[in-house]
Amino acid sequence: KQKLKDDALLQKSLTLSKRDWNTESFSWSKDLRIALTDVFKIPKLRPLQLQTMNASMSKEDVILIMPTGGGKSLCFQLPAVISKGVTIVVSPLVALMEDQLHGLHKLNVNAKMLSSKAPKDDVKAIMTGLIDSKSDLRLVYVTPEYMAKSNRFMSKLQKAFEMKRLDRFAIDEVHCCSQWGHDFRPDYKFLGILKSMFQGVPILGLTATAPAKIIVDVQKMLDIQGCLVLRASFNRPNLFYEVRRKPADKDTCLEMIVNLLKSRFQGKSGIIYTTTIKESEQLTTDLRSHGLKVGCYHAMLEPEYRTKVYSKWMSGEYQAVVATIAFGLGIDKPDVRFVIHHCLSKSMENFYQESGRAGRDGEKSTCILMYRLMDVFKLSTMVFQDKVGLQNLYKMLAYCLDMSSCRRSLIATHFEEKWTKSDCKEMCDRCRKDKKRKEIDAGQYCRYLYQIIAKAVQADQRLTPLKLIDAWYNKGVASSRVASVPTPKFPREVGEAIVGHLLIKGYLQEDFHYSAYTTLTYMKRGPKSGLALDNDHKIMIEVDDY
Ligand code: ADP
Ligand code: MG
Ligand code: ZN
Repeated sequence: KQKLKDDALLQKSLTLSKRDWNTESFSWSKDLRIALTDVFKIPKLRPLQLQTMNASMSKEDVILIMPTGGGKSLCFQLPAVISKGVTIVVSPLVALMEDQLHGLHKLNVNAKMLSSKAPKDDVKAIMTGLIDSKSDLRLVYVTPEYMAKSNRFMSKLQKAFEMKRLDRFAIDEVHCCSQWGHDFRPDYKFLGILKSMFQGVPILGLTATAPAKIIVDVQKMLDIQGCLVLRASFNRPNLFYEVRRKPADKDTCLEMIVNLLKSRFQGKSGIIYTTTIKESEQLTTDLRSHGLKVGCYHAMLEPEYRTKVYSKWMSGEYQAVVATIAFGLGIDKPDVRFVIHHCLSKSMENFYQESGRAGRDGEKSTCILMYRLMDVFKLSTMVFQDKVGLQNLYKMLAYCLDMSSCRRSLIATHFEEKWTKSDCKEMCDRCRKDKKRKEIDAGQYCRYLYQIIAKAVQADQRLTPLKLIDAWYNKGVASSRVASVPTPKFPREVGEAIVGHLLIKGYLQEDFHYSAYTTLTYMKRGPKSGLALDNDHKIMIEVDDY
């Protein structure tokens, strides 16, 4: 029975996807065009915007998957403006809502926001506006928490629904519904009742998170299986992707960034992402001591100070902002020419989004990621408690370690997009010049590492990744070394790459321990160690030619 239902739903979504949504022959098409030019002052729609709006205006449930900055908000704002009733916009963050409200007010659109912090008068105006057929209230932004808690709001919604004033629900960052997503919000669960409570009111879900597993989960949660799913391309043809080996020595690393800012990116605007607040402050100081004009941005700074940094960067007084990922929301600078990751990101989603702040104007821009194995372990202790935290981090690691694939193809595969080799047009380091690499069997090295680990276990000790690699290279604490393990003949970077590969393939595993001040990670044998113990077992990987 379930299968019959699934088939029917699949059929429905197939039929929906075959309809031509990309036309201007709907009854509202003329109004839509007029509002686009007169209210929003936008000359041309972007890919999938028209399709999304037409489907939602036709009262179909839609999920729109589009990269950040692609223009998802317009897909509910414009329909809201040309409809008679109200559009309810559910959004997870007050800061995001404030940005949008600010924009809409400048266009003279009546939009309001409900949150636990909303002033009493606003709340009152919204509650009456919802059920006043003469009101010009078009959009009400609300957090899911507020919805779940406020009976008053829900009862007004019901009244508005009976009056046929409820045009649609737009659910922004809809991946928050799914616990497989990278930021699951329990409060989004409440949205599961909307479909049955407000029958016939279309739901439009919007997200930049693509995996099919998450989208299916979201559809189930919202009870809109069989809805139309629209997917925009994630390819950013004007971005050049590059991964550099990050020097272990701090000064050499700094020199590398200074050089980039003083030569290749001279007179150009950019962002440098760091992992921690401390790092962002340190790097800012260091770059300034080399005469560079940069600002620092992170969550612990006063809002006024942050605004100042932001506007100095916008005006070009600062060449770059050195920031934690707190720098992101609402950034709308079109001519960002470079994004440097001082450390790899927590996930491919994060990396794509952060690097994607470059080149919004379509001009050629560069995204450089500085990779070092040891940085992985700084991040792993931060994310290992999340359900999919490590899995996401290791995917990022695999992106850095890959010796042969086009960077773009890896990103496309991650976002479950089809890919042809010619799509890159030499816009990544791998396609531009084929790096000298070689394939090796890491099986024996894996067994050597197990020997080192076994010795530590016997001595009732644990090895951090650094200590493990040290012992392998015959360095560090003498008692950790194993006489029968030969010192590798290849450079340490290759040794690190081998450890990285063994980790993502499950031959090694991180073992987390809490200490009084911090979380530590140690290396132990992974779930696949049984296989590797067999002397004939091969583990083929690609590393730098040495
Ligand atoms: P998303 O939610 O997908 O990350 P936004 O909706 O915030 O993206 O839009 C990003 C920027 O693109 C905004 O400044 C918006 O005004 C602009 N924008 C949206 N659609 C268009 C369009 N068709 N033409 C030009 N600019 C657009
Ligand atoms: Mg958005
Ligand atoms: Zn490429």
